[in-house]
Amino acid sequence: MGARLYVISGPSGVGKSTIAHAILDKFKDSIVYSISMTTRPIRYGEQDGREYKFTTVEEFEKLIGQNAFVEHAKVHDNYYGTPREQIENAVSRGINVLLDIDTRGAQNIKKNYPDAVLIFIAPPSIEELRQRLFKRHTDSEDVIEKRIHNAIQEIEMSSKYDYIVKNTDLDQAVGECEGIIEDNMKKGR
Ligand code: 5GP
Repeated sequence: MGARLYVISGPSGVGKSTIAHAILDKFKDSIVYSISMTTRPIRYGEQDGREYKFTTVEEFEKLIGQNAFVEHAKVHDNYYGTPREQIENAVSRGINVLLDIDTRGAQNIKKNYPDAVLIFIAPPSIEELRQRLFKRHTDSEDVIEKRIHNAIQEIEMSSKYDYIVKNTDLDQAVGECEGIIEDNMKKGR
């Protein structure tokens, strides 16, 4: 059975990384996480090489020129990209990969890997999302408004996804995602 890419997207603050952690924990032996590269500043609590590989704009642009990314995009004024080598390594060894990338990235992945399974994590409402971003205390008010603006655009793209999971209750959302992955693993499409 071939390895497959599982892509999760959704607005910042929707609970994607918590869901991703739970998925990786459950499928320890069969799914690895794709660590993206980014030029955004490292946040408190993050570790270079764990959440992201942090780099400079110069280095990132050089890597684009070398075709080192399967896809890359500018999100909230920073570059983010999926390193080609990681994906190709895992897939050639028959290991599934989980990607947490934005909606444009997801569409580009689907073009290159038509078998990829696209899951969109939706917030209960925009107002709820705004509250969650404020409570997170990681971004200024300006940045939060930019993220909300982006979220509205992302939600409009959710119709292009294979699955939409509404994160009203975290445990339930995690369970739904795990069920989707299990079904697709069984199908081995
Ligand atoms: P954050 O800065 O909050 O970690 O992530 C911002 C956004 O960038 C999120 O929507 C996340 O899914 C997206 N993102 C992270 N890595 C990548 C990537 O490699 N490619 C693309 N296209 N988007 C990414």
